[in-house]
Amino acid sequence: MSTTPKIGVSFVLPIFNEEGSLPELRRQLVAAGEKLGEPFEIVLIDDGSTDGSFPVLRKMQAADPRVKVIRLRKNFGQTAALTAGFDHAKGEIVITLDADLQNDPADASLLVAKLREGYDIVSGWRKDRKDKFLSRLLSRMANALISRITKVRLRDYGCTLKAYRREVLQSIKLYGEMHRFIPAIASQIGVAIAEVPVNHRPRLYGESKYKLTKSIRVFLDLLTVKFLLSYSTRPLQIFGMFGLIAGAVGGVLGIVLSYERLILKQGIANRPLLLLAILLIVIGIQFITMGLLGEIMVRTYHEAVEKHIYAVREVLDSEPDEPR
Ligand code: UDP
Ligand code: MG
Repeated sequence: MSTTPKIGVSFVLPIFNEEGSLPELRRQLVAAGEKLGEPFEIVLIDDGSTDGSFPVLRKMQAADPRVKVIRLRKNFGQTAALTAGFDHAKGEIVITLDADLQNDPADASLLVAKLREGYDIVSGWRKDRKDKFLSRLLSRMANALISRITKVRLRDYGCTLKAYRREVLQSIKLYGEMHRFIPAIASQIGVAIAEVPVNHRPRLYGESKYKLTKSIRVFLDLLTVKFLLSYSTRPLQIFGMFGLIAGAVGGVLGIVLSYERLILKQGIANRPLLLLAILLIVIGIQFITMGLLGEIMVRTYHEAVEKHIYAVREVLDSEPDEPR
């Protein structure tokens, strides 16, 4: 058995060209970690930085055994970098934050205390944001929309300062730019989520890695998340619904037109309605077939990744576990 103490908290930070803020960041992280009063580690993921970030990280790691550096081969993006960090984090609790010092590492103790009250995810809420007016407005709208659609209500989805129980992170998979949807995705397995106000500071070094087109990508990701949350185990129910409605309307139109043609002996070749009826019937059939294909794919998916359609919090059982 190893004698190293169990790590309580892992700080996970993605880093893409943040050379300027690293020395100050390290000081603040170590101070925050030591204030926690339990063993901690700092996991820094170099997401293919092209400035001098990596040499600085290498020095930081050599000087402090609590620092772990994972260097990705190229720039994979924030979500991928975070996932790499989650895969390497050993702490019972994982705290994510940005490397640009906009989040205050000192808030970690607040999050950890809240998590210990029995929550699975504690999300930071930048009550007093230090960003441009336009991005604050967009983010307010995004939060309202995401909260409504995913039914996981958070005042600040965009805040990267969050604390998670590690098993929650282990049971979800992230793609694209979905790190900001972790609370919503995790709601699939049933999680208790809390929000606490945290400090937010202006960016002092380097510049933001995102442009306004980010909002569009966030919106598309939201669509995916919504679909996965609500219909990923029953695709036929959504596609089939559209299919039946389209097919039924098309069918009724078709019957009306047939009646006019066959009984009333009217010509229907010049009726646009005829085209619509055909279109609706074809679409209806296609939707239903797509739903059925979806059903097959869902089964393959769950088998392939050994993903269960349920998630267990704990098992109370007086009999000891028997290997199956
Ligand atoms: N980041 C990253 N890979 C990327 C883009 C960003 O690892 O491709 C990191 C970046 O170094 C920072 C965090 O993600 O630690 C958030 O980025 P940024 O501060 O630029 O975003 P903003 O706060 O402007 O939304
Ligand atoms: Mg930032």
